[in-house]
Amino acid sequence: MRPRVLLITPPGSYRTFAYINAARSLAIDLLVASSGRHSLVTSIVGGVHLDLNDPASFNKLLEADREAPFGGVIATDDQTVEIASRVAAALGLAHNPLGAARLSRRKDLARQCLARAGLPVPRHRVIDLRVALAPQLDGLRYPSVVKPLSLSASRGVIRVDDRRQLREAIRRVQALLAGEAGLGADETCRVLVERFLSGPELAVEGLLHRGRLEVLAIFDKPDPLEGPFFEETYYITPSRHAPNVQSLIRRRLEEGCRAYGLCEGPVHAELRLSENDAWIIEIASRTIGGDCARLLRFGTGHGLEELVLAQAAGQPLRAAAEEGGAGVLMIPIPRPGILRRVEGMLAAQRVRFIEDVEISRREGYELVPLPEGASYLGFIFARAPTPEQAEQALREAHGKLNVVVAPVMNITDRR
Ligand code: ADP
Repeated sequence: MRPRVLLITPPGSYRTFAYINAARSLAIDLLVASSGRHSLVTSIVGGVHLDLNDPASFNKLLEADREAPFGGVIATDDQTVEIASRVAAALGLAHNPLGAARLSRRKDLARQCLARAGLPVPRHRVIDLRVALAPQLDGLRYPSVVKPLSLSASRGVIRVDDRRQLREAIRRVQALLAGEAGLGADETCRVLVERFLSGPELAVEGLLHRGRLEVLAIFDKPDPLEGPFFEETYYITPSRHAPNVQSLIRRRLEEGCRAYGLCEGPVHAELRLSENDAWIIEIASRTIGGDCARLLRFGTGHGLEELVLAQAAGQPLRAAAEEGGAGVLMIPIPRPGILRRVEGMLAAQRVRFIEDVEISRREGYELVPLPEGASYLGFIFARAPTPEQAEQALREAHGKLNVVVAPVMNITDRR
């Protein structure tokens, strides 16, 4: 009998299709549970409509399991990790405990947890936006970083160098949170302020099984991320940091997962090297974002979603990383405005070691940069004999692109 896996996804998740493709290539049956509109998805695989805010609607999944049992449950995105935990628990399947899933999407709780476990954690404070700010800001040191408790993709994350900037940043994040749907009360009226950690940043992609962490890839982020906003750009693998630094990264991540209680499924983490240690910025219990997972191919050519899916189905695949270097550039938004066109695509595609240049936004789309915006313009992928060559190819290809953006005009009264 074909194995069957339940995929719980928020509406509009770009990860859904990657999992559907992976399920097809592994001959695994997939049932997609989501809210919103997913017409294309459910015409390809089975679908169940869920109200992600109403636990009663999860009963449908228990019924679906009685008809044909699931071997595992996967959450595609931060918004569904807690639901996946509840559903998997109800079905008696391997899962991250609810508290652990919650820590993996709540930055304030995660900080407290890591501090309790004795891991290096920047000094931090939760600010309540409903009461007077001034006394809450006393004694904070600079530079600091302001961030929402539960958004992702660096949205609302702002470095501040003094108290005036801090107040401005808090107001900016408050406005952002007010326009955000699907946040809990705690999450719209509080922000986290923590010490800015200077130093190089790395990202790690891993897979947990029964509490054991398998590190699938360590990515260097070769451009310094000093703020005030933290736009992701280059991800290059394998890491060129010394083996002892990479061991430290692995150890800290293992300790972090253990402290949270994470034990099953994918993790994507960011860490910073600062003051002779590796500091966990965050550990998410889902795969890497954007289309970046495409970069990773393992063993016999399997992709990341295939590894995750196969493990959830109880048929884990071998995950040896491929030889050579690979990298992705999340193409930065040069300025806010309406996308007119991207010139130089062919020239960029012709650069040696470039695999693909992909513009995800159509002409006419309004580009909103960080800290408010959430989208990337597109991606450039490279695969080369070494990570240096992959990075060089990405830089060269990016240099060939000219992103033409028209300003947005606000209509004002003028009679
Ligand atoms: P998100 O989940 O939205 O990505 P993070 O907390 O991971 O939010 O922060 C996004 C980015 O902001 C990080 O990858 C890092 O570059 C930067 N950042 C966040 N916190 C700090 C900090 N304390 N010190 C330095 N940089 C930070």
